[in-house]
Amino acid sequence: MKKILLIIAAVLWLSLVPAYGAETGYTNISDIALYKNADYSSAVVSTLKMSTKLDIVSENEQWYNVKTPSGSSGWIEKYFVTVPPEKYVVNNTKNKINIRKSATTLSDAVAQLEPGEKARYIDTYHSWHIIEYNGKEYYVASWLTDLEYKSSQNIYILYDKVNIRGNASLSSDVLAQGNKYDSYKVVGEKNGWLQIRLDDKQDGYVAGWLTTYNRNYYSEGSISFKITIDELNIRTGPSAEDKKVGSLKKGDVVNVVGSESGWDKIVSESGIVGWCNGAYLKEVNPLAGKTILLDPGHGGKDPGSISYSGKYEKYVNLEVANRLKDILEGMGAKVYMTRTGDYYIANKERGRMADRLKADILLSIHHNSLNNSDYFGLSTYYNTINYKDPRYGYNLAEAIYLNAITVNGVYRDGILDRNYEVLRETSTPAALIEIGFMSNPQEEMNIHIGSFQDIMAEKIAYGIVDYFKK
Ligand SMILES: [Zn+2]
Repeated sequence: MKKILLIIAAVLWLSLVPAYGAETGYTNISDIALYKNADYSSAVVSTLKMSTKLDIVSENEQWYNVKTPSGSSGWIEKYFVTVPPEKYVVNNTKNKINIRKSATTLSDAVAQLEPGEKARYIDTYHSWHIIEYNGKEYYVASWLTDLEYKSSQNIYILYDKVNIRGNASLSSDVLAQGNKYDSYKVVGEKNGWLQIRLDDKQDGYVAGWLTTYNRNYYSEGSISFKITIDELNIRTGPSAEDKKVGSLKKGDVVNVVGSESGWDKIVSESGIVGWCNGAYLKEVNPLAGKTILLDPGHGGKDPGSISYSGKYEKYVNLEVANRLKDILEGMGAKVYMTRTGDYYIANKERGRMADRLKADILLSIHHNSLNNSDYFGLSTYYNTINYKDPRYGYNLAEAIYLNAITVNGVYRDGILDRNYEVLRETSTPAALIEIGFMSNPQEEMNIHIGSFQDIMAEKIAYGIVDYFKK
C-alpha cells in the first residue's frame, strides 16, 4: 500500500514540477498532432510544426507528456521527438561572463557566469547560447564559452566510412572511421563538430552533420503515398479489429513511418497518426507538377561575400543550387535556374524570371557575411513590402528553416523579414536562405564540404515539400 502511494506521489510530483529543469526535445516531423492522452483515439490538442521545442514533463514507455512554447500540453509518441543530449555551457575563461536578457551585448546583464561555472544549455540563437539560469532562459556569448556534454550521452553516425579526426578540421589527421548505426559517447562540441570518445579512451572529432542524436533518424525521410480508394479507415493499430480514429479520401497524401503485416503506420497531412491497410497506398513524387526557380545568388562581376580565407560566395551558392536541383528533380519537380554559370544578372530580373516561368516558388541561395568573425548560423528571409500574405514568402522561409536547422552542427539565426530586391520584385512566392557565415572561419570550412552541401540540399528539399503541403 505504501509503495503504491509513493508511486502516486512520484507521478503527481512529476506532473507538478515546472517545465524548467525538464528535458528539452524537438519534433522531428512536420505537422504532427499533439494528443490529449497517450492514445491515438484521444482528442487532438494541437498540430505541431517541425522543430517545435518541447519541454518533456513526464513519459511512459512509448510517449512523452510535453508542454509547447505556445502553452499547450499533451502527449506525443517518442518516435516523433528528438531529444538532444544534455549539455552545459561552461565559462572556461579567467573572467566573469555576462548573462543577458537577449542575444545582444546591448541587452541587460542579469548576472554573471564565474570562471569555471556551468549552466544548462538549451539552444543557440544569433550566435548566443541560451541557458537556464535561476529557472529562466538567458543568453551568454557563445564565443566566450565552451559546450560540454553530460556524461554518457551518445550520438549515432549516419553514413558509412565517416572520418573521425584529431581536430575539428578537414586538414587534421584521420584517427578512425565510423559507420552507419555506430554510436559514440559525445563530450564536447565546437562550431558544428562533435568531440567524441573513441574506444581506446582517445578523443576524436566528427562533423556534426554526419551524425544524429535520434536513433529513429534512419527511418525518417519524406516518402509520400497517395490513397487509392474512395475511403480508407485509420485505426489505432495494425488490424481491422483496432479502433477506428478517422478516415482518408482518395487522393489524400500521407507519410508512411512504419509497416507491420501489410498495414502501414501513417501521418496524414493534418498530423493525424494511425494505421491503415497498405494495399490502398501508392507511392507518389511529392513535387510532381511543381515548377521551381532556384537562384544561386550573385555571379560574374558580383562575387557576393568574400570569405574569411578569401573565397567568393557566388561559387558556393551555385554548388548548393546544383545539388538541390538534382534532389528536387528526383522528387518530380520541374526546376529552372536563374544562372547556370558565372555571369551577372540584376536581382529584379531574377524575380521577374520566376513570374515569366509561372514558377510555383522562387528560392534564392546565399551565404552570409559580417565584419565580426564570431558570428555563425543559418537564416531564411521573406519580404512583406508587396505581399503580406504568408503564402507569398513567410511559409516557404519557415518550412525551409525548420528543416535545415535539424542538421547537427547548424545553428539558428532566425526567419527574418527583409526588403530584398529578389524577393520584392516578383509576384511568385519567394524566400532566400543564408546557409552559413563565410566570415566565420569554421563555418566557412563547413559550407565548402561536399557532404555538408548534400545534407543541406536534402533538408531544403524537405522544407519545400512541407511548404507545398499547406
Ligand atoms: Zn549573397
